[in-house]
Amino acid sequence: MRKKIAAANWKMNLRQEQGEQLLTAILQKNISLKPHQFAIFAVPFPYLPMASEKISGKINYSVAAQNCYHKSAGAFTGEVSAEMLSSLNIPYVVLGHSERREYFGETNAMLAEKVNLTLSNGLQPVFCCGEPLFIREENGQNDYVEKQLREGLFHLDNAQIRKIIIAYEPIWAIGTGKTASAAQAQEMHAHLRSVMAGKYGHEIADDLSVLYGGSVKGSNASEIFSQPDVDGGLVGGASLNAEEFCQIISALP
Ligand code: PEP
Repeated sequence: MRKKIAAANWKMNLRQEQGEQLLTAILQKNISLKPHQFAIFAVPFPYLPMASEKISGKINYSVAAQNCYHKSAGAFTGEVSAEMLSSLNIPYVVLGHSERREYFGETNAMLAEKVNLTLSNGLQPVFCCGEPLFIREENGQNDYVEKQLREGLFHLDNAQIRKIIIAYEPIWAIGTGKTASAAQAQEMHAHLRSVMAGKYGHEIADDLSVLYGGSVKGSNASEIFSQPDVDGGLVGGASLNAEEFCQIISALP
């Protein structure tokens, strides 16, 4: 069975003690995860040791970094490498979030390098893709997202692509309260899966987890996650609220 994942993206929010309280509140609910279900917390870099410590021993609870640099090491003041994350035993890293693409100029070519460094250091990328509103209004979303996958991932071989988690996040739905309908999410996820099948074959494509992101909340998670090609969510705003995020974890099929 495909992995079903509820991934929290805290972005640049919370003081460390607030993050710790949030994790405590979520873990206190003791939501037990089935072998195919995972809860992942993408926390700010400085909180990775704290978050790793908090979730240690909790089965299928993990932490993720929100980014890493596209070079392996060197004179890049202020940046964090995949190798550094690996040295902290961080299992996942979110790559290519639309905020990174938009505010920090991350290109598909840079993301392809980040993907390589992430994999070669033993981490699994959560590779984000998604179209802006004007592309959706022109009905160009399928080609737009396909290009992101082609340029960011298609250089990988079969063994490498199996390590990738894809997150489809339409930019017009991120932090806007405007969720894609379950049907819109399903339509794009099916398209992404067929693009991956075209390159890597159906067996690999059927095994890939494709998460939806964009204003997922406790109240809409079940409907979105029940779509056949949606394997959970990448969640921003609602992941900062313990009740909401617990509802989202509990909505994983
Ligand atoms: C995100 O930032 O990945 C996201 C989906 O944010 P939100 O849930 O707040 O729309």
